[in-house]
Amino acid sequence: MTDRYGHFIDGSWRDPAGGAYFESINPATLEVLYEAARGDAADVELAVAAARRAFEAPSWSGLTATQRGKLLRRLGDLVAENADELARLESLDNGKLLREMRGQLASLPEYLYYYGGLADKIQGSQIPTSNLQILNYTQHEPLGVVGAITPWNSPLTLTTSKLAPALAAGNTAVIKPSEYTSRTVLRFAQLASEAGFPDGVVNVVTGYGAEAGAALVENPTIAKISFTGSTRTGSAIAASAAARFIGCTLELGGKSPNIVFGDANIENAAMGVIAGIYAAAGQTCIAGSRVFAHRSVYDELLERVSTRAKSIVIGDPLDDATELGPLAFGDQLDKVRSYVGIGVDEGATLYAGGGRPNVALPGYYFEPTVLTDVTNSMRVVREEIFGPVAAIMPFDTEDEVVGLANDTEFGLAAGVWTQNLARAHRMSRRLEAGTIWVNTYRAMSPMSPRQGFKSSGVGIEHGIESMHEYTRLKSVWINTDESPV
Ligand code: NAD
Repeated sequence: MTDRYGHFIDGSWRDPAGGAYFESINPATLEVLYEAARGDAADVELAVAAARRAFEAPSWSGLTATQRGKLLRRLGDLVAENADELARLESLDNGKLLREMRGQLASLPEYLYYYGGLADKIQGSQIPTSNLQILNYTQHEPLGVVGAITPWNSPLTLTTSKLAPALAAGNTAVIKPSEYTSRTVLRFAQLASEAGFPDGVVNVVTGYGAEAGAALVENPTIAKISFTGSTRTGSAIAASAAARFIGCTLELGGKSPNIVFGDANIENAAMGVIAGIYAAAGQTCIAGSRVFAHRSVYDELLERVSTRAKSIVIGDPLDDATELGPLAFGDQLDKVRSYVGIGVDEGATLYAGGGRPNVALPGYYFEPTVLTDVTNSMRVVREEIFGPVAAIMPFDTEDEVVGLANDTEFGLAAGVWTQNLARAHRMSRRLEAGTIWVNTYRAMSPMSPRQGFKSSGVGIEHGIESMHEYTRLKSVWINTDESPV
């Protein structure tokens, strides 16, 4: 019989108020993995009320910052101890390679250790105002109940990026994971319970965006929404949050340029381009989907990338030999396929890939694809495809490529391949993106802040800076004299 999971609310499993469940499908085999509760406003209400009670209860609000840090570190240990199970569960759910998941799980405890260490370092300051009779100081307070909404491509990592600073700062949380990947987030909440977080501090309501997600955003008790997902959904969430003057952190889509100059180490650059677009089958916000190659190396780069694209081992994500797994669900495959068609209709050349690979499994597979003869005005270059599709374009001058790279609504990340140190710094300054990689691509750490520019987001994730996304600042004025001021 198929496993069935309820919501995780107030430290225990809860059946959905409406009694309905939905299936999660293994995208490689198309088998039903489990059923999860289909949450609605009633479930969200219950979870938010539990989170608010927990926020006020002495068992959480009475902890010292050091004690909160200790809980986060214990959770980090539990994640490390359960890494194999978590990696496997997530790989089954979204088709990400098991070996890639093992890599993610190896660094995931770091997020919890890092924010555990920061918990007791959030401090205000004493301010020397012009009145000596007044003592003025600031303090950072937690916000209350944080609503966290996450996508399916990296559910554990993206949930942890939000929860670790939110909990370190003393908030409580209600998480709404993507309907395609509920399982590991539920397991994460269970581990938080096991680590000793009081009941109600970490809650999970599963379900669809338009139902559970929208109800969470609109819940009047929520103090903040932290969202990772598409720019379209992010825009609707921002509008709703703005109407109630609550803050939101938004990590949204991308269409990142990966720029190869004529003086680059071409072998490394080709590998960086391949990792940039084909890792996780291109289903990453930071995918280097717009590749610009200097005309002097364009032919060589194109050849290297397309030759490698054709030799990528496609298959079962659980198999260590596999280099590319399936797309995460059927609509995702349809979307990627249709974008390739749109590109060809617009005049692009399908240089490599573009179809279903020869794989024994029945899942949602799509070949690593290269499009050439593309221009910046085409939809395949302007819109996020979120699949293994690279558009490769030549350029002649640095000024030209800066103009092309910045001519996009997005500003998440950018890659630059050059041996010229001055150019590396100059390009880092000129590119409009929150993360710049030079002679590498995809490097990331919980310690380094990241921010999406333009339509790629609002607010900061990771680093010390993200702690302040989950606190509010209070200024306290005290008359230290007997006479009034
Ligand atoms: P999505 O916007 O469709 O869904 C994201 C989450 O929002 C899901 O949990 C979904 O159920 C929920 N949701 C959908 N409609 C909602 C609504 N009206 N109200 C509240 N919640 C709602 O995105 P997706 O397809 O799950 O994820 C892919 C997108 O995420 C891509 O655009 C990708 O670039 C982006 N992403 C960004 C980052 C980043 O750090 N910038 C990281 C990973 C993914």
